[in-house]
Amino acid sequence: MSGSNKPSSGQKGGLEPPGPGENPHTDLSRVYSKDLLPTAGGESLTCKFFQELVNILMDYIFKSNERSSKILDFHHPHQLKEGLEGFSLDLPDHPEPLEQILVDCRDTLKYGVKTGHPRFFNQLSSGLDLVGLAGQWLTSTANTNMFTYEVSPVFLLMEEVLLKKMQSIVGWCEEEGDGIFCPGGAVSNLYSLLVARYDFYPEVKTKGMCALPRLALFTSEHSHYSVRKAAAVLGMGSDSVQVVPCDERYPSVPSVPHRSRCVQGLVPFYVNATAGTTVYGAFDPLTAIADVCDRHKLWLHVDCTGYSASSVTWNPHKLMGAPLQCSAILIKKRGLLQECNQLCAEYLFQSDKHYDISYDTGDKTIQCGRHVDVFKLWLMWKAKGSEGFGSQVNKCLENAEYLFKQLQRRADFKLVFESKPEHSNVCFWYLPPSLRGLPPGPDTNRRLHEVAPQIKAKMMEEGTTLIGYQPLGSNVNFFRCVFSNPATQHEDVDFLLEEIARLGSNL
Ligand SMILES: *Cc1c(COP(=O)(O)O)cnc(C)c1O
Repeated sequence: MSGSNKPSSGQKGGLEPPGPGENPHTDLSRVYSKDLLPTAGGESLTCKFFQELVNILMDYIFKSNERSSKILDFHHPHQLKEGLEGFSLDLPDHPEPLEQILVDCRDTLKYGVKTGHPRFFNQLSSGLDLVGLAGQWLTSTANTNMFTYEVSPVFLLMEEVLLKKMQSIVGWCEEEGDGIFCPGGAVSNLYSLLVARYDFYPEVKTKGMCALPRLALFTSEHSHYSVRKAAAVLGMGSDSVQVVPCDERYPSVPSVPHRSRCVQGLVPFYVNATAGTTVYGAFDPLTAIADVCDRHKLWLHVDCTGYSASSVTWNPHKLMGAPLQCSAILIKKRGLLQECNQLCAEYLFQSDKHYDISYDTGDKTIQCGRHVDVFKLWLMWKAKGSEGFGSQVNKCLENAEYLFKQLQRRADFKLVFESKPEHSNVCFWYLPPSLRGLPPGPDTNRRLHEVAPQIKAKMMEEGTTLIGYQPLGSNVNFFRCVFSNPATQHEDVDFLLEEIARLGSNL
């Protein structure tokens, strides 16, 4: 939708002329943080400091949208630690003037990675949604905590509205559905496992794992590693994870026994299905898996970006382009989250408050304090409408199809899958001149395995575009392009392929 939002010229850098009542001679080289508010009379300095900061941020935003600007100016860790052109990471004993603080802000952005650049394809969390950014800034300005209604009345109601909206999109009815925003998809997945275990074995909360039989959970070979990590963190051990093999792209429907029947001493209770696998962007056969889980009384969690699941992970900081972090765990059965996690700390969750304390949702979480991640998403939803998100995601899928078509017709690239992409992921190899026409086999594969890392290294040094690579199963290192940035246009996709071909031309 909003692909070519070019910055208006003449607005970059420089200061606005001083407004009435402002001191035009303020020199930030002689001013310190102690001179800002809350110091009496600090209003105009505070204003000036923030105007300068906004100029720096604007400059960065404009540059991020300029195709010709670099995505990164790569330095090795030791180079950054040694200090570059006055940019020092060392912490001083004495305060530094605000001018230096602003230089530090500029340098921090300078040596970082412009994830909003139209040619950044490295991760699914990309793009820079400006309304989302505005939301983030407001959130930081409000600087409050999501644990109680007492301190977050508006944000907690917004969270309720968003969770209900997401639950209705997932397909749950008005009477069901609970959830919480939490720090990322991996943590959302952990919540699903935690709550599922509690649902079957509430005694785990007080007695721990020794009161339980040994449990088994099922997830596919291509599912996100956070499922195994959650099993380890929750004391079930990663060996409790039964990995369902995939034929190329899809897992077989797991042949899980009924919950009442254990296999080799393990009691099955939980199945994770992925709607959009991390590397291939493939959808597990959800309906068939849901049938099995229903018949065998198992908890079905869907890791995605909906369905007849007991819980769903939804990560708006991926394809929906919400600024990091923004992730929700949705649980179908109401009350479980609260029962599973609540400890009723009396200094926070007093039961004799004068308002409806069901809005003190903080005891549903495994955290104490919780960051406000909802406002930016709420604001984006207001600004785009559901339709706007729809067309934004469609644009990403369209870009993926465009890339697929370009790859189909080029002899110097090879697709990992010949069929159309299912999601916004497209996986491919670059075949350098020395490898073209070689017979397939272990030797060719060994050489092909080296190609992507070598190109990536050069790509990071040059900083013109950025894409990830990995091996998977029997496939040696291949590039994975993911689209989630609405700034990306066909010309950027063309550029990516040309750049890979250029960087790899002498391999
Ligand atoms: C990205 C991703 C995760 C992890 O999400 P984070 O927000 O990075 O913790 C989990 N599952 C899938 C399918 C993902 O793509």
